[in-house]
Amino acid sequence: MSDAAQRHEFQAEVQQVLKLVVHSLYSHPEIFLRELVSNAADACDKLRFDALQNAALLQDDTDLQISISADKESGTLTISDNGVGMSEQEVIDNLGTIASSGTRRYLENLSGDAREDSQLIGQFGVGFYSAFIVADKVTVESRRAGAEAGDSVRWQAGDDGSYTLEAIQRDQRGTSVTLHLKEDAKQWLETYRLREVIQRYSDHIGFPIRMLETVTQPLPEDAEEGAEPETTQEWKEINQAQALWTVSKNEISDEQYQSFYRHLSNDMEAPLAWTHNKVEGRTSYTSLLYVPSHSPHDLLLNREERKGLKLYVRRVLIMDAAEQLLPYYLRFMRGVVDADDLPLNVSRELLQENDQLNKIRAAVIKRSLDLLAKLANTQEEDYLKFWTTFGPVLKEGVVEDFEQRDRLHKLLRFKSTAGDDWTSLEDYVSRMKPEQDCVWYLTAENEVAAKSSPQLEAFRKAGLEVLLLSDRVDEWMMGYFTEFDGKPMRSVAKGEVDLTAFESEEDRTKRESHEKEHEDVIQRMGEALSEHVDTVRASRRLAESASCLVAPEHAMALHLQRMLKQAGQDVPDQKPTLEVNLDHPLVQKIVNTQDEEAFKDWTELLYEQAALVEGASLKEPTKFVERLNRLLLA
Ligand code: ADP
Repeated sequence: MSDAAQRHEFQAEVQQVLKLVVHSLYSHPEIFLRELVSNAADACDKLRFDALQNAALLQDDTDLQISISADKESGTLTISDNGVGMSEQEVIDNLGTIASSGTRRYLENLSGDAREDSQLIGQFGVGFYSAFIVADKVTVESRRAGAEAGDSVRWQAGDDGSYTLEAIQRDQRGTSVTLHLKEDAKQWLETYRLREVIQRYSDHIGFPIRMLETVTQPLPEDAEEGAEPETTQEWKEINQAQALWTVSKNEISDEQYQSFYRHLSNDMEAPLAWTHNKVEGRTSYTSLLYVPSHSPHDLLLNREERKGLKLYVRRVLIMDAAEQLLPYYLRFMRGVVDADDLPLNVSRELLQENDQLNKIRAAVIKRSLDLLAKLANTQEEDYLKFWTTFGPVLKEGVVEDFEQRDRLHKLLRFKSTAGDDWTSLEDYVSRMKPEQDCVWYLTAENEVAAKSSPQLEAFRKAGLEVLLLSDRVDEWMMGYFTEFDGKPMRSVAKGEVDLTAFESEEDRTKRESHEKEHEDVIQRMGEALSEHVDTVRASRRLAESASCLVAPEHAMALHLQRMLKQAGQDVPDQKPTLEVNLDHPLVQKIVNTQDEEAFKDWTELLYEQAALVEGASLKEPTKFVERLNRLLLA
């Protein structure tokens, strides 16, 4: 290395990523090739885009391409491109620090458990540092498009936590990455091995990938016996160099679709489904959309993480336009849209109000939902895999996309009291009792709380199925979800319920006279609890429990009110209603209590029981314990 080379330390986080990548992926060393070829292709895409504004950047080197050459003597493998290149500062920023916020968040998500973390890294674009899986030293030489030959830079790093930088003279624009292969990675000097991996991972790349191959020339006819044939080195194109989405559907194998998905999403797992469409007409475009099988380290649940739909205009990558093309609730989708009729220099601002783009957006939404519906109808198991990962995201659509609500409602899946399986609303409706006129549901903090809720008792007894919802978004969603198939959606935990249609004549008469008889005592209970509840009433929901708390018909569920309060939000103070089960021995005991103090104690206890079962914590636990002890010792 020349004396002029300057030594720099890697940012601590880079070292961490480096170690992790090498450590986690040593069993998949071929990943490095995919990542470096992918970076080279991105650099070509970037230059093609920049050249739209400034054609001079291309000079006379107009055929963007990627070259791969192995040198057995020096044990090196070089991946070069004549793409956009990097200035010295860009090299420092991109290769010496963790620039991408995705990487940073990935690091923040690390658990410290090596096994878990290595799975995490599999879901995350490992990028440039994957070079160190197979190399103990990496040299990058680069010249930015538009810069002079003398403004080029050489970056070199081993595995000792530092790198060097020096100014060099470089004739060609672009970047070359040279890997000094480790002893056990010499297979990457063999062209057949390189070809195999590139064809598997990078065949769809829209730029030619050339490889320097040794070609044996045929012996001339008059060659002497025993003469060695001559060999020459020739550049051979080893991919189709045709952007995958431009190829017609019936010429693309599943394997090719999957490998393109990997390139697009950095996801090593296969997607669950895809849809590829070419639309011709007033707005002509091609779309290729994928449903991933899992969420990249939970980032998809972050609403601001809306990336992954790339917009091309006539084969030129313009930008990631997921924000323009995908609503929040479809932010898990990945893919490509290639529009024919947009101006190449279209900006983000222009996109916002572009008519063509609005049409494409509407089509992308419809196609995505159709794709999900098809998955749901034909591959239930895969759909449930999708649902358990992205269901909570899709649910946001019920609130935010009124136009698509019918499609979305059909895609929802629920747990229910009918069994352990997921159910659709259509299936629920098909199981409804003839007298049943609404879809019953319950929202709760979690599935266990939902299943054991006392609110369900009378429904169970009447044989009515109740949907059990326990995602955080559920209560919000149900606020906007009023009916399905003409049947109102009703919470079992809000307002008054009337299950008279499911009662025998005899039971009803008995209940009604019971209620009448207890009107006074119920009113007294209400007075005793006026501080905590709005009213007390005889319950038609309970069968086994003594009491339960109920929110008013149009109020927020109690657990949500509590959650929002804990999060410091202003929640209007709406007192719940206490319902008591007149058939319960404890309630009977209270009814028959003559002692006014004991009556108050018992009534308070009834309220406190209901609050505890509902999941609330008691405001004055000491008083509760004192009261309990008083009653136990009486
Ligand atoms: P990612 O590609 O996911 O951003 P990488 O670690 O692979 O992460 O690369 C970091 C950055 O380095 C890239 O975003 C790009 O700006 C730059 N880079 C990498 N390889 C090249 C290349 N061949 N030409 C130009 N820039 C490159």
